[in-house]
Amino acid sequence: MANKEQLFKYKGNKCACCGISIIEMVERYGTFNRMLEFNHINPDDKDPEYSNIIRRVLSTKQLDEVDKCVLLCRNCHGILHAQNINAEWEITANVDGQKATQRFKGQAIVDLKKNHFTFLTNERMLLNPYHVIIGASKPRTLFGIQLETESLLMSFLKDIDKSKTIKIFFWGTQKIAMEAEYICGRDIILKHDISFSGFKSELMENKGDSPAIWIRNGIALTKEGEIKKSGTVTYNMELIV
Ligand SMILES: [Zn+2]
Repeated sequence: MANKEQLFKYKGNKCACCGISIIEMVERYGTFNRMLEFNHINPDDKDPEYSNIIRRVLSTKQLDEVDKCVLLCRNCHGILHAQNINAEWEITANVDGQKATQRFKGQAIVDLKKNHFTFLTNERMLLNPYHVIIGASKPRTLFGIQLETESLLMSFLKDIDKSKTIKIFFWGTQKIAMEAEYICGRDIILKHDISFSGFKSELMENKGDSPAIWIRNGIALTKEGEIKKSGTVTYNMELIV
């Protein structure tokens, strides 16, 4: 049986629309049982086996399924289906004179009394800016969308035998987000902060085992039911790019 509390924490532990949290539900009603539900943003993406997948132990398939969803309380979930509004939202970020745009697909809930529109999407925000230093070059500002969807991160890693190092810093705090160091051949050491969402990985205790830790969307989940949002992961790896 999957640890639903772990999946709820992974999805923010609260309704993505009205914001009521599990803590508040327990304080008010003594339970959160039957009060939160996963809603598929694109119902066509829902696996026909969804109800079985979600009941099983934590797995890649289960997380892939939950990644298609937003977490909603029953009330907001009901309103969302009753209003049935599909929406797209384009956001442009402007940092250090550089711009990046991301278009999100989602669903919306409208509160006519408050004149309030809530946009809900399962898509990951890729407009976080970073300072990137390749080898001895000067720092450049790049957005997550450039690193990931324009495959810049992959191309930097591909050429690490020439640059020797790649350092990526969170733009605001200047804390290290990712660091890669060339060893020899195609071997590198790669370290990244769990909150740096440029990587999706699964760690096994022994070769051939099912994963013991999943790292994705800036969060680490363990098969024991834990959730971690900070910390560093280090891999000794061979590049196959
Ligand atoms: Zn709600």
